[in-house]
Amino acid sequence: MPKYVRDNTGRFQQRPHYEPKELDIECEKIIKAFLTALHGTVKFPVQTEDLKKLIERDADDLDVYADLSIYGPEVEGVTEFSPGQKPRVSISSALTEDTRRENRLRTTLTHEYGHVKFHSYLWDMEPPSADLLRQQPNRNKIICKRDTMIDATQTDWMEWQAGYICGALLMPKSTVTNLCREYSEVHNIYGAISIQSAVGAQLVQATVTAFKVSQEAARVRLFKLGFLTAAPQSPPLFG
Ligand SMILES: [Zn+2]
Repeated sequence: MPKYVRDNTGRFQQRPHYEPKELDIECEKIIKAFLTALHGTVKFPVQTEDLKKLIERDADDLDVYADLSIYGPEVEGVTEFSPGQKPRVSISSALTEDTRRENRLRTTLTHEYGHVKFHSYLWDMEPPSADLLRQQPNRNKIICKRDTMIDATQTDWMEWQAGYICGALLMPKSTVTNLCREYSEVHNIYGAISIQSAVGAQLVQATVTAFKVSQEAARVRLFKLGFLTAAPQSPPLFG
């Protein structure tokens, strides 16, 4: 169970606070149990169709051909909550129809799933009144913009959590750890790998390939888990 703190965004009285390691553990459990139930085995990258199935399992509806232009040009995903019911997820059709942006679609689907799985109970606990919904018709929705899908500031706690969850589901910590450990051993590196080094760039590329994510998503995840650093590479311990 998460710890509860005051919600400074004013959406709820209280909001859950998760440590990154709690989300890592929880997300790894969720994705591995889901893939095992579906295929009898756990393999990465998670297939895009399986990401849709995961949402469909826990949401009332998934529409990947939604017109979200009413929310603004930056919006690519919306999750709508109704107390007592499962949430409904909408993904921008512009994203679904553009095959060059499949990695973006994958992170958006998984980000919205983060809201479905980790946030929908909040609307059951503190449902907005009919009056409030009339004044603020988007009060029961989370409207997600492209720029904060993978990484948001901690003050925007819902987006931050969904972004972290997205990385933790697509790139579970133990699988990423194994990949990074192999790289460090092969290249005789102790500690975090510098993003400025060729090995750092190769590690990002290996993560992109292993988990079928964008360069940005791979980089953010590797930084958050402490496998990448912005500092220059320290020399190997043993020549
Ligand atoms: Zn979001």
